[in-house]
Amino acid sequence: MHSIHDKLAIEEIRKRLRIEPGHVRRLRNAFYKKQETPAEALEQLPAPQRRIFGSEVAFHFLTCHSRHDSQLDGASKLLYRTASGQMIESVILRIASGRTSLCVSSQAGCAVGCCFCATGQLGMARSLTHHEILDQVIQANRALGAEGRSIRNVVFMGMGEPMLNETEVYKALNVLLSPQCFDLSPAKILVSTVGIPDAMVRCAERFPRLGMALSLHSARQAQRERLIPLARRYPLARLRKAMEHVTSIQRRPLMVEYLLLAGLNDTDQDLSELLCYLRGLRVHVNLIPYNVIANATGLIGTAAERRCWFAARLTEAGFTATVRYSLGADIAAACGQLARLETAPA
Ligand code: SF4
Repeated sequence: MHSIHDKLAIEEIRKRLRIEPGHVRRLRNAFYKKQETPAEALEQLPAPQRRIFGSEVAFHFLTCHSRHDSQLDGASKLLYRTASGQMIESVILRIASGRTSLCVSSQAGCAVGCCFCATGQLGMARSLTHHEILDQVIQANRALGAEGRSIRNVVFMGMGEPMLNETEVYKALNVLLSPQCFDLSPAKILVSTVGIPDAMVRCAERFPRLGMALSLHSARQAQRERLIPLARRYPLARLRKAMEHVTSIQRRPLMVEYLLLAGLNDTDQDLSELLCYLRGLRVHVNLIPYNVIANATGLIGTAAERRCWFAARLTEAGFTATVRYSLGADIAAACGQLARLETAPA
């Protein structure tokens, strides 16, 4: 079986079955852009070849296990099962401005082990294929079609560390950007990483117009290692060099994600080291309130007043800074929370 996302294989099948290129173009248009089902999209092919093409090409790679719609705001979580049995998740974010974003997973589980993250507590199962990454977009887009919406933004902020699955993430990005497939603007895609310096540079060189977010969370090495164990391998000085390189290539400022945790990274000293670390870099700082996870080990989010104070000091120092509004608190929308609940023994 070949994948609909594999252009070379589809071209080989098209030639063998003597299908006109225009028919395949219309099939792709129906499947990727018009949110049609595989059966509907296949109607774009001449009847004699339709059945054989459909029997040789796979359109879906994940089984939708359940959907959870927030009663508080515009978030929906989609939980999928892979063919090898792992649970992964995507989150649809309907922003008040009318924009619809999808947060996708790049791995089933994660080896980075961030102490504040539900996925980190799941451990690592395996990296997802680009077919599985793309199927999250296909299935979410189809679910949104019923509401007259479609996905405008894709963020790689779900389960897993995208830069530890570079090859498959890049293949998925190529399909998302391809004019014959999703045709998304690179400005509408954001890849988030905990900071793997060489991979960040490679990604920026390959996709210079893409958005990139770095989960910094602390500008103090010891604190950062406590929050993100993988940070031991990538000291802050080395990360800073990668940030300089990335910001010199990309048009958009680098998004710096900073999860605010009481007493851990929100003290006056934390702020002054952060300001010092970021000085001279073209970055946008996104301060994130802590979304409490079940069985968390004593982490407490920074109070709202202190979050605003932190943002104000960053702004005074000349940085653009925002405090992120978290959607989906009632559906465990933070990365990995729902998959973790579904995976946990009853
Ligand atoms: S925050 Fe991201 S990198 Fe860290 S454990 Fe969770 S999924 Fe992995």
